[in-house]
Amino acid sequence: MHRSRRAHTWRAWPASLAVALVLAAPARAQPPDPAAYRLVDLTHAFDARTLYWPTSPTAFSLERLAFGPTPGGYFYSANAFGAPEHGGTHLDAPIHFAEGTRAADDVPLEQLVARAVVIDVSARAAADRDYRLTRQDVLDFEARHGRIAPGTIVLLRTGWSRFYPDRKAYLGDDTPGDASKLSFPSYGVEAAELLVRERRVGALGADVASIDYGRSADFRVHRVAAAENVVGFENLTNLDRLPATGALVVALPMKIAGGSGGPLRAIAMVPR
Ligand SMILES: [Zn+2]
Repeated sequence: MHRSRRAHTWRAWPASLAVALVLAAPARAQPPDPAAYRLVDLTHAFDARTLYWPTSPTAFSLERLAFGPTPGGYFYSANAFGAPEHGGTHLDAPIHFAEGTRAADDVPLEQLVARAVVIDVSARAAADRDYRLTRQDVLDFEARHGRIAPGTIVLLRTGWSRFYPDRKAYLGDDTPGDASKLSFPSYGVEAAELLVRERRVGALGADVASIDYGRSADFRVHRVAAAENVVGFENLTNLDRLPATGALVVALPMKIAGGSGGPLRAIAMVPR
């Protein structure tokens, strides 16, 4: 009854009035259509092989609490997990390396959901595993792809995720408890200064264990980023499946109150 009455009312309207109303209506933005995007998982799964810094006292743990049929006749499973904040695919909150800056739960969502650029140094890293992104590399990237916009999530592609989770190949050394002989590529300090202080990017991500290269002992890239409340995304994967520009990254960490970082589920949306 209700439906037919409405239809009758609509038909009774003069056609010209209906057209005028449609034209006057403000255009309403539609939510993004997921089918219009290729979704790329940038995250390593967490398990017993998840890589942590050599000096980490603990690693990822998963304890089975229940798995199987219950007296009630239904299936039930549940686990308890434990993990350091920094390891596997994870967030570095600014407070990780700069006092008075933001903790994990305080990072604005706009910094975690943003357009990304992918700077590919995989060929250079293959020739030199201690390679560091240079200021000139960033300028060369911009000459080809345009100036990197404020708020961008910068992703450094070294190709290193193909070694994950082989500790020796990925970190360059597998001596337990010793982080002094690590060797893997990452950002250089001058490149980080350009990206953070001049381009005002929102995040520095990489497919290696740190936004500082493995041989770093002073973590200067971390400190440059943290001082400006720029976050880090470490141990990413599948960066080879992203275009140099045009992807939207959604990188949502566990919301640990006061956390210096945390496990991260990062994906990219690439327009088809
Ligand atoms: Zn970290």
